[in-house]
Amino acid sequence: MKTDQELRSQLWQLDGSSYRAYKAIRGRYDFDEFVLCVDYVQGDPFAAPSQLRVQLPLAIAKFPSVLLASSPRKIALRDYVTRQFAQIARQVAQRRGSGKSGSIGISKVGPEILDRSAVCLTSEELEFRFTVGLPAQGRRILGRQAADLLCNDIPEIISQLHYTQLDNAELQSWVETNEDAEALRSQLLPQGLVAFIADGAILPRASGVDVRPLANGAVPWQSPESLAVTLERPNSGPIRGTGIPQGITLIVGGGYHGKSTVLQALERGIYNHIPGDGRDCIVANSTAMKIRAEDGRSVTRVNISPFINHLPQGRSTTDFSTANASGSTSQAANIIEALEIGTQLLLIDEDTSATNFTIRDRRMQQLVAKHKEPITPFIDKVRWLLKDYGVSTILVMGGSGDYFDVADTVIALDNYRAADVTSEAKAIAQAYKTERIAEGGTEFGALIPRQPLAKSLDPSRGRKEISIKVKAIEEILFGESAINLSAVEQLVEPQQLQAIGWALIYLKTHYLSGAYTLREICDHVVEDIQTHGFDCLDNRPQGNFAQFRALDLAAAVNRLRDLKIKQLSK
Ligand code: ADP
Ligand code: MG
Repeated sequence: MKTDQELRSQLWQLDGSSYRAYKAIRGRYDFDEFVLCVDYVQGDPFAAPSQLRVQLPLAIAKFPSVLLASSPRKIALRDYVTRQFAQIARQVAQRRGSGKSGSIGISKVGPEILDRSAVCLTSEELEFRFTVGLPAQGRRILGRQAADLLCNDIPEIISQLHYTQLDNAELQSWVETNEDAEALRSQLLPQGLVAFIADGAILPRASGVDVRPLANGAVPWQSPESLAVTLERPNSGPIRGTGIPQGITLIVGGGYHGKSTVLQALERGIYNHIPGDGRDCIVANSTAMKIRAEDGRSVTRVNISPFINHLPQGRSTTDFSTANASGSTSQAANIIEALEIGTQLLLIDEDTSATNFTIRDRRMQQLVAKHKEPITPFIDKVRWLLKDYGVSTILVMGGSGDYFDVADTVIALDNYRAADVTSEAKAIAQAYKTERIAEGGTEFGALIPRQPLAKSLDPSRGRKEISIKVKAIEEILFGESAINLSAVEQLVEPQQLQAIGWALIYLKTHYLSGAYTLREICDHVVEDIQTHGFDCLDNRPQGNFAQFRALDLAAAVNRLRDLKIKQLSK
């Protein structure tokens, strides 16, 4: 292995050469305290930046072993140092004033603590994966600046990431908060709950485009007494809050009184949050799936017949495909697909639902007879979902009291304050009958397992064998096909989409030839990543992957416009 001094003199010698000569610095360098790996060197100054890694021995970083004592602790520590790396790199780059050429970048992260490949951990070392824009003037190498960047700045950044240089109290709160949240989530099922919102939690965000907590005037969560439970935390002791029981829960209240904000907090409850986020003690069942209308999406061979029947022109709904779903058929497909992968909790907001999917009142039943209406509304299926498959629903519904009949729990929001109005709602349901005719039959209906076929996944684009590009959290460009994930609202980081894109290739090579169902495939992929790490997805080390669920991977598969699938009989 060459040394940092050799790298420095090599870069000096390259000064003034044409940019492509940078390719020569690929390799590993011994920097005494750590090893620098230059894995990929960009071909020109305007291309995607170069990819580097630093391997820092734990013996040198000196993190106390208690910070690494559990899996949630390790994830939180990696999350914390990722953020610190980004911040220190920014300061160093600012001082240098070097702009894009000379930039040092690591995965951009939000308020969730996620398992990411940006910082990996083995029993011996921490590995930082980041990018560098190698400095240029026009298309000539700026060798001295590059030497400064790689041989001075990077060691400086890394030296500030040793335990003794970090804010130890903050780091400790990171690992403890993450471990506590994990513990809270694990108590849900045994307690018969699907979600928990701690007293004092701050739910609203700074704005529609700013995920930080609302700074002024936020009303902290306070649980209604009747729904209050106390859960245990290994680090911070017991905590009281609202336990949302299994079953069907309605969130009602006047417009602008905070209903959707509660649901959004629950959607995010599948993730743990950083200290100070306000939602670090809000947790939901990890299989919770936000369901919404998504007109225009493609659907391939889904049995949507529990919700949709006898479509015009005699189209099949037990084996339904379309390149352009309507609001209600897309929402039906979204539910069925989530059930297929094993969701236990549906989260639905009236704001993003198709009205005719959600309700159908007595008068409409009278005017448009059942045999003329293809849709069986959700209200007639929500209890069968619970009874037949044990699937709970939390539904925001300010617009229709018909749901009082089918709800187990009704939570009202009044000026952002929650009240348990279940018995009031039940009394009203008795006093004012809807006179609806139940249209849901005597069961939910069968779930038909499906098997994706290998020919439906083609990652190639032009001469490139593999082309995966990600647009924010909206879209994966997989080969030539765009997978639109903007309606899969629980994806929070582009790195998740990046990982899903590579997981699609992985599942094709590993699982499509066997006779696995989509559910088995997605479960296997997630398990493989848990066992072997993100590196199983690609043989080159990638720094821009983040965790995703089997449900999210299936959501991407299901949105492939050229998906080929086989329905299996039960
Ligand atoms: P709804 O769905 O009931 O119409 P929203 O959840 O969209 O209402 O909330 C309306 C507004 O109130 C949003 O701007 C939101 O940020 C704000 N808000 C929600 N909850 C709180 C709270 N607990 N404290 C202060 N503001 C809140
Ligand atoms: Mg709303």
